[in-house]
Amino acid sequence: MTEANAAPVTGHSPNALAAVEAEIARACKDARRDRASVTLIAVSKTFDADAITPVIAAGQRVFGENRVQEAKGKWPALTSVYPDIALHLIGPLQSNKAKEAVALFDAIHSVDRPSICQALAKEIESQKKHPQLFVQINTGEEPQKAGVAPGEADAFLASCRDTYGLTISGLMCIPPVDEPPAAHFALTAKIAARNGLTNLSMGMSADFATAIMLGATHVRVGSAIFGHR
Ligand SMILES: *Cc1c(COP(=O)(O)O)cnc(C)c1O
Repeated sequence: MTEANAAPVTGHSPNALAAVEAEIARACKDARRDRASVTLIAVSKTFDADAITPVIAAGQRVFGENRVQEAKGKWPALTSVYPDIALHLIGPLQSNKAKEAVALFDAIHSVDRPSICQALAKEIESQKKHPQLFVQINTGEEPQKAGVAPGEADAFLASCRDTYGLTISGLMCIPPVDEPPAAHFALTAKIAARNGLTNLSMGMSADFATAIMLGATHVRVGSAIFGHR
């Protein structure tokens, strides 16, 4: 894998994108996984169209944003030119933004409470649009962080299905910044496995290779592609 060392791992697109791609390919190889089993979500939050366009031009088609309003302001102009782009909402969702979120996003990674389930179910029904849904697990049980506590995950997933009629495709986690992430990734994978869920949204710029080793199907990489925010 000579390409792996050809570009700096941090810095700016599109060289940075190529470096991230090379690291994903290497992690997949080490994990004996097919490269196609991992989706790279380029997290473009805080970056404007001028920064995003070169990454699109380099071939990237899946992008992540953490705020509905910010995404609404910059993405429609880009997706009208590149209709094959998929947008993922990776940040917290308020019930009163569910309508806009379902209209704009192809995937939502932050389902974590009954009010959100209810609002999403209503919008999915009325818009006849089915974004891929992930339940966020607060693996570190951090009070300031969104997500369902690990001990409540099974019951919450059952209520998503039975009470709200939602199809949940996988789990998402954001490990505590001051802890090694591997145990958090493994816990998320374990909860997913026992609930029959195949998709795992985990791993960011600093730890996506570790996440791939532990089964990540969606890695959310921002600063390693776009530079510092
Ligand atoms: C910003 C963000 C990322 C990307 O973080 P980097 O460290 O810049 O790769 C991933 N996931 C979530 C939920 C984020 O908010």
